[in-house]
Parts: sequence; C-alpha cells; structure tokens
Amino acid sequence: MAKARRVYCTFCGQTFVSSDEETCTLCGKTGGIMDPMNPAALTDLVAKKREEANSDQRVGSTVGDVVDNVLLGRRLIRLAAGGVVVLGLGLFLLLHKDFRSDPNSLSLYDVLIAAGPLIVGVLLLGAAYLTWREAKCAAVVDAAKSRQPDNKE
Ligand SMILES: [Zn+2]
Repeated sequence: MAKARRVYCTFCGQTFVSSDEETCTLCGKTGGIMDPMNPAALTDLVAKKREEANSDQRVGSTVGDVVDNVLLGRRLIRLAAGGVVVLGLGLFLLLHKDFRSDPNSLSLYDVLIAAGPLIVGVLLLGAAYLTWREAKCAAVVDAAKSRQPDNKE
C-alpha cells in the first residue's frame, strides 16, 4: 500500500491526504492528482478559487434580482389590474345608458360620477408605471450592490 501524502486534484480543486495517486477520493476522477507544492497546481487552485468566487457572486445577485422582480412584478400586476378594472368601471358608468340621468345624452353629472373611478384608475396605472420603472432601476442598483460584500448581521 502506497504511503499517504498530501495531493491536489485538478478536477475538484481540493488538497487532501490520499494514498491513491491516480484517482481522486473526493470527486472520483482519475488523472488529476498532483503534488500540491507543484506551481502548476497552485496556479490551477488560484484560478479555481477565482472562478468559484465569481460564480457565487453571480448566483447570489441573480437570486436577489429574481426575488426583487417577483415582488415588484406582483405589485405591478396588482396595480395594473386594479387600474384597468377601475378605469373599466369608470368607462362603464360613463358609457352605459342605464346609469345616466338622461339615457339619450351625456350630462355633466354623469361625467362627474364617472370621473372618480377614472381618476383612481389613472392613478393606479401611473403607480404601476412607476413600479415598472423602479423594477428597471432596482436591477441597475443590484448590479452595483453585487460589487460590495453583503451586510449580514
Ligand atoms: Zn477531485
């Protein structure tokens, strides 16, 4: 049996003690075992660590973006749907003959009654538009934030 020594696996990028000089006991791949003191192994390790750090950051910010976008998206849908429903109600009041004081003409009174829901509907759609803009800005802010370490308390 071969003597156990420190080895470095170029496949999984880990340094560990093993007596097997062919097969990595951690990832099971053959042919990637090197002496951890070998400069090539160190270069490979540094490159792997960097890759790992980059991919971690990418995954983290992607998850954050998705969560933000889901929350903003739900708000956006609620506001837009509410706006459309209320606007529809306003238009219904405005255009439906049964709700008019005089079925044959549109009076100022009818317009005033319909104006409430119409204004609320426009405000809701405006809020939806602002949320949509916020969602676009949030993506930009997240990209900037991901350059800084997270504040975990
Ligand atoms: Zn390995």
